[in-house]
Amino acid sequence: MPQRDLRKTRNIGIISHIDAGKTTVTERILFYTGGIHRLGEVHEGLATTDWMPQERGRGISITAAAVTILWKDYLVTILDTPGHVDFTIEVERSLRILDGAIAIFSAVEGVEPQSETVWHQADRYRIPRIAFINKLDRIGAEFTHVLQEIREKLGAEPLCLQLPIGAEQGFRGVVDLIEERALTWSSEDQGKAVLITDIPGELEKTSQEARERLLESIAELDETFLAAYLGGEGSSPDAIRAALRRITLANRGVPVLMGSGLRNQGVQPLLDAVVDLLPSPLDLPPTQGIDPRTGDPAERPHDPKAPLSALAFKIITDEGRRLTYLRIYSGQIKPGTSVFNANQAVEERAARIFRMFSNKRERLEVAGPGSIIAATGLKATYTGDTLCPRDSPIQFESLQVPTPVMDIALEAQSSAEEKKLNESLEKLMAEDPTFRVRVDEETGQTLLSGMGELHLDVLVRRLIEEFGLKVKVGKPQVVYRETIAQAAEAEGVFEHEVSGKIQFAQAVVRVEPLPRGAGLKSGVRLSEAEIPAEFWPALEQSMTLQAQSGPLRGYQVVDLLAQVVGGSYNESKSTELAYEVAAAKAFQAALGRARPVLLEPLMRVEIVVPEDFLGAVINDLNARRGKVEAIVDRGKVKLVKASAPLSRLFGYSTDLRSATQGRATYSMQFSRYDVALEPAPSPGA
Ligand code: GDP
Ligand code: MG
Repeated sequence: MPQRDLRKTRNIGIISHIDAGKTTVTERILFYTGGIHRLGEVHEGLATTDWMPQERGRGISITAAAVTILWKDYLVTILDTPGHVDFTIEVERSLRILDGAIAIFSAVEGVEPQSETVWHQADRYRIPRIAFINKLDRIGAEFTHVLQEIREKLGAEPLCLQLPIGAEQGFRGVVDLIEERALTWSSEDQGKAVLITDIPGELEKTSQEARERLLESIAELDETFLAAYLGGEGSSPDAIRAALRRITLANRGVPVLMGSGLRNQGVQPLLDAVVDLLPSPLDLPPTQGIDPRTGDPAERPHDPKAPLSALAFKIITDEGRRLTYLRIYSGQIKPGTSVFNANQAVEERAARIFRMFSNKRERLEVAGPGSIIAATGLKATYTGDTLCPRDSPIQFESLQVPTPVMDIALEAQSSAEEKKLNESLEKLMAEDPTFRVRVDEETGQTLLSGMGELHLDVLVRRLIEEFGLKVKVGKPQVVYRETIAQAAEAEGVFEHEVSGKIQFAQAVVRVEPLPRGAGLKSGVRLSEAEIPAEFWPALEQSMTLQAQSGPLRGYQVVDLLAQVVGGSYNESKSTELAYEVAAAKAFQAALGRARPVLLEPLMRVEIVVPEDFLGAVINDLNARRGKVEAIVDRGKVKLVKASAPLSRLFGYSTDLRSATQGRATYSMQFSRYDVALEPAPSPGA
């Protein structure tokens, strides 16, 4: 098989807020590139990338499925990242392996909180982006609002490449400001053909002005273009695209396109922009990691002759078989050849490797840099692991896992079921590292912690439907935390006979409050004369372990500094074990004196609602101890920004729907932990 031209490879993601239209637009992309023969609609439960039965049932995308298409000789792999806030890890995980992204915004709702979060995540990975303003056919669509919000909320420079022709129900197509022509689509062929005509007379003047503004913005951002532009030349479509490409790759600006996914308008120009403006793997700097043997920085060029480096970014179980998605950065992978998993320090072997098209898998003999493939036969590889040769290992940075804020209790019906439950949970954890499992010491129940109601609900349903488990499921509960309100000190002494020998230790622990979000910091402030340095790590570890379970309700203790500030040592009797116990006792006693308080998760909520229902929405928020922070005019609707405790937001979507006759949309995301104003409900309540 000839090596593909890497310059003709694009690995992109589609990022946005839930319901902005990712799945709908992806479905068009697959349809126009021949990947599917019929358009499946989200609301009919038929969209191709929503392949998990639950996603189809709910009309949302949960897993980031990788799909490869061909567009004009370019191999484009698209990751349909989920927009729901409960699934940010999926977004983060795909950002790791993307080279570029399309950000989709709704022309009505604009830049919503989840888009903001994902956008800033993408900033962190320096991912070049283009934007697509969707839903121009809807009442209240206003693309200039979105441009303004891209500037204000995202701090990015929008470069608008198109103008809408017609508005709302009358939306018909777009003016292409680069080529100076009109593009429209017909419903008869479901938008397959792009109809190219002259710019309609009534739009000529505005188009010309918009083009001037675009060229001026490009000239401000790109010196090469500026020189040609000032010289009175250089505004050929090719020169404009070349400049836009440089600007996009350098993250200096964001080209903006527009259309309506549902009405099949604007998708092909978006694909053109993907190949014209977004990077190939070769445009990116070498991939950074560390050498696991030394911890020193290491990097790999996008070169098939370099040693293999590949990141496992997703594991799914497909018809009982484990399928591991890999992004290859350097070197080559071949089925049957041994590779080294740098994170687990084990040798692995891929049985088969595939490129995943939407309608078929293509079996590969070899895959090189820039490829996104799926492999069978990898047994010990988990999400986030790096594969490489044993003798030139590299490890890429692991994922930042967000805070789980909700728990749900599970109880197996029998001990046989319990074993099955644990095995199933292990499989689910391989796929999704954001949820955690622990056993409640008091009740013996298994607790699943996740990112929110929906996340937990999806997990529980999969346990029941996919794994066929019979489990008793509790109500979702907020995950609280604990902290302290004042500084305190306490002493802990251990003096006991252990295995026939008296062991002794004494430690004094001081705890001090830290600002919200600081987490737990622990350390020692001692002289070697008080306690020899060899015991210091044991002291610290003991406090960290104790902090897992706070004095009030057993929740994790955060936002404090815990230090061992004194102690004594007996040369013949002091042991590590004794210091661990003494530090634990001192830490617990100090916490008890430091006025422990409960912290609860607060959510940021944004609601878009027609004016008529504004009062109902605000009253309801007040009843939930919500704080309205701002009410913003958004044309015909209002945007309410508020914060509220998660404990009061259970079932919010249902309540909001009934209070507003389904006319409001909302989004919610974790904001921070803060002092709980109400006591936490007792367990099992
Ligand atoms: P996702 O959550 O971002 O994947 O969004 P979906 O593609 O699932 O779309 C959410 C809802 O918006 C669905 O009911 C779509 O049919 C609808 N939708 C998507 N694109 C458009 C559009 O361009 N115009 C209109 N009017 N509705 C759209
Ligand atoms: Mg979707």
